[in-house]
Amino acid sequence: MSRVYNFSAGPSMLPEEVLKKAADEMLDYKGSGQSVMEMSHRSKVFKSIIDEAESLFRELLKIPDNYKVLFLQGGASTQFAAIPLNFMNGSGKADFIITGQWAKKAYQEASRYGNARIVASSADKTFTYLPKTKPEDFDPEADYAYICVNNTIYGTCYREIPDVGSIPLIGDISSSFMSEPVDVSKFAVLYGGAQKNIGPAGLTVVIVREDMLGKARDITPTMLNYAVHAENGSMYNTPPCYAIYMCKNVLEWIKEQGGLEKMKELNEKKAKILYDFLDSSKMFRGTVVKEDRSLMNVPFVTDSDELNKKFIAEAEEAGFVNLKGHRTVGGMRASIYNAMPIEGVRKLVDFMAKFEADNA
Ligand SMILES: *Cc1c(COP(=O)(O)O)cnc(C)c1O
Repeated sequence: MSRVYNFSAGPSMLPEEVLKKAADEMLDYKGSGQSVMEMSHRSKVFKSIIDEAESLFRELLKIPDNYKVLFLQGGASTQFAAIPLNFMNGSGKADFIITGQWAKKAYQEASRYGNARIVASSADKTFTYLPKTKPEDFDPEADYAYICVNNTIYGTCYREIPDVGSIPLIGDISSSFMSEPVDVSKFAVLYGGAQKNIGPAGLTVVIVREDMLGKARDITPTMLNYAVHAENGSMYNTPPCYAIYMCKNVLEWIKEQGGLEKMKELNEKKAKILYDFLDSSKMFRGTVVKEDRSLMNVPFVTDSDELNKKFIAEAEEAGFVNLKGHRTVGGMRASIYNAMPIEGVRKLVDFMAKFEADNA
């Protein structure tokens, strides 16, 4: 068996230990005589899995007690509609910072339901930086402000969460979920799809402050109403059981590694190896301004489309897969989430150095 280094933006690598554990437990989960895929979501044994997943989230992220943790489906994209339907129900206004395609999609979806306003955008420079904002930029009457914390496609990440004044802040953290500590209390709602950093596709985790619940519009579909899911412990209907189980395994792995402080240290180390190389290379360069660089998604280019293509093809052959940049950006992108081992990044950089020498 040989495994590749997978630099995909998502679904992405999972820790090998987690995959092996899932394989070991596949046919008979802890003496239940069943796979987690087969068991009732209302069984005691599954209850212990979802409870453990929630308590690991709370422990690792230090989630305050006045927040609910919801295990939902539909991906981050479904929340783009659920968020306005749940919260855009006071003034009907919401303020957005547009830092890339995911923030834009969330804005566009919210625009269908109310008065969504763009406070700042970095579209002028292809989202290669994060626009600076001040608390006064935000409408104190808005029902919420919205940001995308880590911009998967363009490779920017908020190192400091913007101050939006007195209104609730909602953040999409899909692609940096559990990659480093976050002050959850700065957000009214923080959510993400699992498939970038914390498990397989199919699970979306929504962390919501209790006072935000109960504001949904009458027309909100029951399945998109966060209060309904909160009241039912994420069991209003069948939750994505196996994805929750895998997520639990990933969170256990994160805890074994030393928690989010340790993840941050490792992620900084990995990103530094790649960024240092990009900064010293004469062929490759990063596309994002230094102060806004993501630790998770590293876009880079050469000055020639042909060289980009050649690089991606040769890298793939050498076992470094999914390095092609997003179809809207071109070039390359290395996603180096928690599960990417440091050797994967070191070997990629060695490969890039050799490619540069061979093609100089
Ligand atoms: C991938 C991604 C999404 C979309 O997630 P889906 O689960 O495919 O809907 C949204 N936001 C961010 C930041 C992402 O990285």
